[in-house]
Amino acid sequence: MSKKLSEVVDGAVVAIYYTLKSADGEVVDSNRRGGKPLVFLQGKGQVLPAIEAALVGKKKDEHVVLELPPAQGYGERKEENVRKVPRSAFPPRTPLELGARFVLRDDQGRNVPALVVELDDEEVTVDHNHPLAGQTLFFDITVAGIREASAEEVQHGHAHGPGGHHH
Ligand code: ZN
Repeated sequence: MSKKLSEVVDGAVVAIYYTLKSADGEVVDSNRRGGKPLVFLQGKGQVLPAIEAALVGKKKDEHVVLELPPAQGYGERKEENVRKVPRSAFPPRTPLELGARFVLRDDQGRNVPALVVELDDEEVTVDHNHPLAGQTLFFDITVAGIREASAEEVQHGHAHGPGGHHH
């Protein structure tokens, strides 16, 4: 077992419970019900940088409440991220319908979210903005655990075990 740490430092394996709400108070995401914390390697950009910054120095069971403007969250919505694509650009069996969400690969191999916002016989209009782009994010976070990373975790750049990577 790795040694427990008294507070969050760079390179620590941190476990958190979180609830994310939108400006109107709607719960957008939360891992509190499932009983499994999110586990990540602090300082590697695996969670939003503003969350990492707020967690530095926090102790187990400490509570962090954050209000993040879009610039510290998922950025502003960009109209140029809404594009018309010919139907023929999609694989044959793609279920194209209004409101359908896909993850596409761009030419650099990155995953890009896509939401179908309009379609006709020839073209599909897809919105590639992150679903939370343009939104102020309200996070409520509880530190569930802090421990030293193992040599293997440091080498891999991510946390292993429950809530982390399995391989
Ligand atoms: Zn690994």
